[in-house]
Amino acid sequence: MSYEVEKILITEQAIAGRVAAMGRQISADFEGQEILCIGLLRGAFLFMADLVRHLSLPVEVEFIRCSSYGKATKSSGEVEIEFARKPATIAGRHILLVDDILDAGHTLHAVKEQLLARGAASVRTAAFLDKPSRRQVPFQADYRGFEIEDRFVVGYGMDFEERFRNLPYVALLRGV
Ligand code: 5GP
Ligand code: MG
Repeated sequence: MSYEVEKILITEQAIAGRVAAMGRQISADFEGQEILCIGLLRGAFLFMADLVRHLSLPVEVEFIRCSSYGKATKSSGEVEIEFARKPATIAGRHILLVDDILDAGHTLHAVKEQLLARGAASVRTAAFLDKPSRRQVPFQADYRGFEIEDRFVVGYGMDFEERFRNLPYVALLRGV
């Protein structure tokens, strides 16, 4: 079956304005610090690329891949993370963790805990989208782009069956 975009929820222009504002806010909050930005693959790749271009700080860029174990353990929030770098280099760093959507909250919550356990000096989180009505664990992002209702969205890095990540806007799909 082929799917098509039903509606554009957040335009390319709105995204650009909001991400620039987030970058200014983060730059002000982290002033005088060097930050390690860690993006969650693959959904955060575009948000990360745009956000770091609005950071006026010394920035290091890293990506990690996360996977949840089977559904049975997902409710307990067990998230396995794969570092592209040695865990030791996390120690003492001020980290900005960047993700596409904050949904149930397990992913960002679990990754943040693991980074702190590996000795990060601080971990702040930036979620491009936030669906607060879906939360299963009490977790708030330090920075968020847009709050949206409980609808499945694609575009700007986010997929449905690995398609639509390249759309420059956030959209709803017909029939999904
Ligand atoms: P959670 O907060 O539920 O642990 O994890 C959030 C992750 O679920 C996001 O990073 C994203 O990969 C996925 N997700 C949640 N809602 C949506 C959605 O509306 N569209 C897409 N494409 N992915 C979603
Ligand atoms: Mg994700």
